[in-house]
Amino acid sequence: MLTCGFECPSWSDLAAGATAPAPAPPEDAPGVPAGRARGWQHLAAAAVEAEALARLQPLLPAPVQARLRSQGGPGAGMWLNVFPVDELLTLPPIPFLLALRRRLCLELPAGPARCPCGALLDPWGNHLLACHSTGRLTRRGKALELALAQLCREAGGPAVQVASRPRLRDLALPGVSAHDLRELDVVARGFPLFGGRSIVVDATLRSPLSSAGGVRYGSHQLDGATFAAARRDKERKYPEFADQAHRIKFVVAACEIGGRCNQECVDLVRALVLHRSSSVAPALRASLRSSLARRYWGILSVAIQRAGADCLSDDPAPVEFASLPLPCLDTLLLGIDAPFGVDAPDVSRLPPSTEQ
Ligand SMILES: [Zn+2]
Repeated sequence: MLTCGFECPSWSDLAAGATAPAPAPPEDAPGVPAGRARGWQHLAAAAVEAEALARLQPLLPAPVQARLRSQGGPGAGMWLNVFPVDELLTLPPIPFLLALRRRLCLELPAGPARCPCGALLDPWGNHLLACHSTGRLTRRGKALELALAQLCREAGGPAVQVASRPRLRDLALPGVSAHDLRELDVVARGFPLFGGRSIVVDATLRSPLSSAGGVRYGSHQLDGATFAAARRDKERKYPEFADQAHRIKFVVAACEIGGRCNQECVDLVRALVLHRSSSVAPALRASLRSSLARRYWGILSVAIQRAGADCLSDDPAPVEFASLPLPCLDTLLLGIDAPFGVDAPDVSRLPPSTEQ
């Protein structure tokens, strides 16, 4: 562990009660605010895992390195951790198996030999995940949009108006024609976040590999290498937002096929978690923050994996979960849907938290 860079405390320090460094405060957490302080074992394991990854990366072909990097980052693997208690957190069997195979960089079940564009298909699905001529890229974006709309609805509650796929012209921006046909993904108004500005979210799901299977933007050497191009594309698509930053918080929620999300998306999810958890009694906030972070990242990462599977499947499952009811506090804290699980206890079994 010492060779991995772990700063090991001495036996005497431990005997004197030395505790592991406190996690970042929730406002600064890298994505999933910790529900409680983590111990030395967590730090030691993290150092060993980071060292193992650093040793493995140079041994892999560049496309595999890129795919591995696209699976990292806050919440990217939460689809493997959440309980499938409702449709938002559930991957059907075939999409789940496809996601597992892609995560392990295994070949996919044998399918058609050629893409509709005429290209020969590779056994890993790289072409289908990046080919623009099949219409699947547009289709896969839908799952991500609906997930983000659901997060805004859940975090905002009835005080917030969340619109899915509104027209840009409906925002009453200067210079936008009444005949403009551009659609936005999600618009949320009424949040006391980001100075009360309207939040416009445009989601995009990117592959770190080209349709020919080569790395793009140096994605084998850089985490989230596709995100800068995603931001540029969206700024080009909606130039009207450039001088409306005082009225509109424009969030480009760029995610990679493996599950990695860009910093804007991470910041949005964290802001939604903190906002929703601030509405309950102080003693419940730390627990709710932790539960919400798992739920919200679970919804997002399940949507990303579902979207990827939709690209690879000839018969994708319809995604229509945006109108699900908002979960109640008991459901959020227990992580169990009461009608199918158990009722929340009247009195919490957890010790009271002093954290606000
Ligand atoms: Zn193609």
